Amino acid sequence: MFNPIFGPLKSRRFGWSLGIDVSGQAKQCNFDCLYCELTAHKPTARMQNVLPPDFLLNALKRALEKITTPLNVLTTTANGEPTLYPHLKELIIGMQALVPSGVQTLILSNGSRLGVPEVQEALMHYNMVKFSLDAVCKKVFSRVDRPHKDLSLEKILNGILDFAQKYRGFLVAEVLLVAGVNDSEAHIKDLASFLRRVPNLARVDLSTIDRPPAYKAKPLETTKLQELAAHFQDLPLSLPQRVLEQTQVQSTKEAFLELLRCRPLSVEEARCYLNIAELQELQKTGLLQIKQVGQMHFYYYT
Ligand code: SF4
Repeated sequence: MFNPIFGPLKSRRFGWSLGIDVSGQAKQCNFDCLYCELTAHKPTARMQNVLPPDFLLNALKRALEKITTPLNVLTTTANGEPTLYPHLKELIIGMQALVPSGVQTLILSNGSRLGVPEVQEALMHYNMVKFSLDAVCKKVFSRVDRPHKDLSLEKILNGILDFAQKYRGFLVAEVLLVAGVNDSEAHIKDLASFLRRVPNLARVDLSTIDRPPAYKAKPLETTKLQELAAHFQDLPLSLPQRVLEQTQVQSTKEAFLELLRCRPLSVEEARCYLNIAELQELQKTGLLQIKQVGQMHFYYYT
């Protein structure tokens, strides 16, 4: 049976996170980004398979009862775009009753529906909202995010501004750069100008591809990323830093494979869960394999 809860996972910028996947096994997203770490899939305007909120909340309750490691955030995410989930408000209200003290609620969105009134109503209940913004020009948007045909970039940008005006929590923008696609100096300047107009922005996470992408897309060299970061210097910029504490999480091979089914894990991350001998044993079974992306190696579920 599908388990919508995954983790805890070490997130680079939010700490130890327990994830709740609202879309289920099939990818359901209104984008089909070049760099997506999930498999490529035709974008969809709405979720076709909707999990009942009770199913998600019961699974979360059971997972929280078993957790022994410290947790920083409870992350709503999806095998796709979580704001497509039609019961998001009911879900976050139910989650708030379960959140352990000191743990923040976070949602990771592609930013495409921040202007939709019912989405705004749900997002207002989150402590932290992170939205992606990879393009501010139509041509670049089509290339990098490969959106559903009904989406309008202009409406998306206005939606971000409108939501930011009303939101009182911790608002984070993530800009992911793909070499040769959205990294021209002119486009970066426009992107930074737009972000300057977003009120109450707590942080801008600038990054590049660091996980195996759905399509042939290349990460930026570190020096290039640093160079472009200069255009964001008057914004609350955060640059990527893969600093993994070698914290050991209690895990089993089965639980680890379950995690890997959701997303690839770097070799360093994987070692937080299993020791080298256990990882090698799993590799021999053929259930996982290693792939190189840029300078890093990742474990993949096969
Ligand atoms: S990266 Fe996110 S927004 Fe883009 S296709 Fe994948 S799930 Fe959708």
